[in-house]
Amino acid sequence: MRGLMQQHRLTITSVIDYAETVYGDVEVVSRTIEGPLHRYGYRDCARRARQFAHALERLGIKSGDRVGGASWNHYRYLETFFGAAGVGAILHTINPRLFAEQLVYTVNHAQDRFIVTDAACLPIFETVQDQLETVEGFIVLAAAADIPATGLSNIYCYDELLEGADEAFPWADVDEWDGSGLCYTSGTTGDPKGILYSHRSSVLNALGFTTPNGVGIGFNDTLMPIVPFFHGNGWGVPFAAPMAGAKLVLPGREMEMNKLHELIVGEDVTIALAVPTVWLSMLEHLRATGANLGRLGRIVTGGAAPPRAMIEELEAQYGVTTSHAWGMTETSAAVTYSHPPDGVDDEAALDVRSTQGRPVYGVQIKVVDEDGRPLPWDGSSAGELKASGYWIASEYYKASDKPAVDADGWLITGDIGFIGEDGNLRLTDRAKDVIKSGGEWISSIDLENAAAGHPDIVEAAVIAVPHERWQERPFLIAVRRQGSEVTAADVLAWLAERVAKWWLPEDVAFTSEIPHTGTGKIDKVALRKQFADRNPGLATGQHDED
Ligand code: AMP
Repeated sequence: MRGLMQQHRLTITSVIDYAETVYGDVEVVSRTIEGPLHRYGYRDCARRARQFAHALERLGIKSGDRVGGASWNHYRYLETFFGAAGVGAILHTINPRLFAEQLVYTVNHAQDRFIVTDAACLPIFETVQDQLETVEGFIVLAAAADIPATGLSNIYCYDELLEGADEAFPWADVDEWDGSGLCYTSGTTGDPKGILYSHRSSVLNALGFTTPNGVGIGFNDTLMPIVPFFHGNGWGVPFAAPMAGAKLVLPGREMEMNKLHELIVGEDVTIALAVPTVWLSMLEHLRATGANLGRLGRIVTGGAAPPRAMIEELEAQYGVTTSHAWGMTETSAAVTYSHPPDGVDDEAALDVRSTQGRPVYGVQIKVVDEDGRPLPWDGSSAGELKASGYWIASEYYKASDKPAVDADGWLITGDIGFIGEDGNLRLTDRAKDVIKSGGEWISSIDLENAAAGHPDIVEAAVIAVPHERWQERPFLIAVRRQGSEVTAADVLAWLAERVAKWWLPEDVAFTSEIPHTGTGKIDKVALRKQFADRNPGLATGQHDED
């Protein structure tokens, strides 16, 4: 017997409809590309999103068409998430930091008909315009007066397109399983792979985000996604914030710490989301200026493992707790979030915050051995991580030769780790970065974490170097704090007290900066090349793919 409940589809547009009706006055504050702050409410966002949907329809966009988006986080870009979905189109979020070759590949592979882009990202298309096979025009997210001179043809002004468009434009009648967003992985080698999100997966992912075991947000919160919307859907924020009626603060393109800090304090941000490198830089900024973080109570971090010392300093010095999350482009946004239980002491709480956390309802995880058998949740049995659930990819977009899931339908993540008895996941490595010494795994994440805990080290990275006797050994690359003269011997002595003797790196090299990928991960491919002269085996080692 079927239930007798109303049959409403889970659509992205339902989220902005809700925010418009219930939290219409809640602010969206944006640092514009032009510089000044812009503020309006979710009511205005919804109205303009409907106008954009109408404008797209006038341009001939039909259900299922792809529209590219290359922009920093600000209100006009937010509107396009709802406007594109509202005409049944699929918003392909483009990472503007992609190499030209990958940019061209993804736009052509997605067959984007139009590209919405802001004045800051517009120039990336100028040199490649002739190679874009399906793009009919560029819609610049600006007022006409703010569109810079450009060699691009077929330019449309976003604000002009909205003028005269229907404020009451009815959303397209979509199925909740229809595609709504497309995002490509940011592999450092090989062609990027597309993940096609559905309305349903996006809504359920955002719902998971809002629950207390996720990020846990409500209308009293002010969220600042420093993570760009092109990185894993901005971790779900474009949908979760309006769903919760939370105030939204969008930092635009200005990623300098003083600018971000000004917004956090000036706009009373309570929760900010960014990759660990941003928080490491913010701590440097706070130490240098003696400033605090205003009303900021929590940060959410992920995309790479945050050093334990970072989590500790944020909490002890600034009263800011860390929710550490794990996810990947293939999992829409986060799957797990770390939260310590009430009543444990500081050290135990820090232990839990340092893990990648527990899955929220709607997703499942497991780690498996080399034969694919699930390993026990005992806090030590390490294997490959797999994931399954409402917002996990089942296959890559138009790439049937590259399976995303195993024979049982579980996502192959390429991450290595173990799960504790309490359900908290601990990642030890990316499969391709694993260091296998004498047949035993050494966790590069744990070593990096321990090294970054040294008071004179800002950031640390560990790569494998070939070794005659042990096959591979760890090699540490570190950035010293300004003015510090800490030596390799000092760092090794520090590590000797914190890790097993056989984990100690072969050597330590100091560098002024550790390279990062466009999504904030330590770029180990670049490091292997940079330090190849330390060991000739490195440049041609087997670990040169992402
Ligand atoms: P992306 O698709 O660019 O978001 O990258 C996903 C990958 O980032 C994952 O497969 C992990 O290797 C890594 N990653 C994401 N979150 C974390 C985390 N909290 N700790 C360690 N690695 C992470």
